Parts: sequence; structure tokens; C-alpha cells
Amino acid sequence: MKIGVDVDATITAYPAFFSAFTAAMAAAGHEIHVITNRVPGTEAFVAELLAQHGITYHVIHITRDKAAYIMAEGISVLFDDMDEYFATLPESVAVFKVRQHYNFDFGEQKWLCSSKTTKLVE
Ligand SMILES: [Mg+2]
Repeated sequence: MKIGVDVDATITAYPAFFSAFTAAMAAAGHEIHVITNRVPGTEAFVAELLAQHGITYHVIHITRDKAAYIMAEGISVLFDDMDEYFATLPESVAVFKVRQHYNFDFGEQKWLCSSKTTKLVE
């Protein structure tokens, strides 16, 4: 299985989990693709960050169009904090959304749209 994992507000939000998870999944023969919308050409900085967090990975890919990369690579799972990267993925791709203050109202215990317009989904 190929697994996509976002960096900012995903790995950086739960580094201990993603360190253990990526190591275990890689050891089980799965392929970890770190997919981020960071500035193109900053793979070395991303690699350094991943090393600091103890993340196991096979590929770092920087793109604004995560869905296109996921479909092209046959990735079957995405961990991310932003709805915009889930919206155009087919049902066959599992998505795991990380809660953050801009996509979840912890006081109201409700999901928000993560487009940062804070519009309620209901
Ligand atoms: Mg993110």
C-alpha cells in the first residue's frame, strides 16, 4: 500500500504518532509518500524536518495538486488537515483528517470548513 502523509499541521501536529506509524508501516512493506504544499525546491528543508521528527519515508513530493499526485502514484490513503486536498479524491482513497483549531470548533464540538473561512459544514 502507498500512504500519503502531509507535513504541516499533520506530522508536525502529532510527530510521535507519525514517527511510530511510518516506521511500522514501512517495516510492514508499505510505501510512505510525504506530500506537502511547501515552497517548490525546499525538499532538503523538509527532509531535515522529517529527520528531526524521526519520520520514515520513501518519497518527498512538493505540490499544490496533491490529488493529481495521489492518483498518478496510486496512493490509497491520505493523512492531511485540509479539506481542499480531500475534495477531489475518489471514494477509493481513504482520508484521515487531522483536527486543528481552523477546521474543528473544540468548544462547539463540530467540524468547520478548513478553507479558513470558518463556515460551518452542517
Ligand atoms: Mg497541512
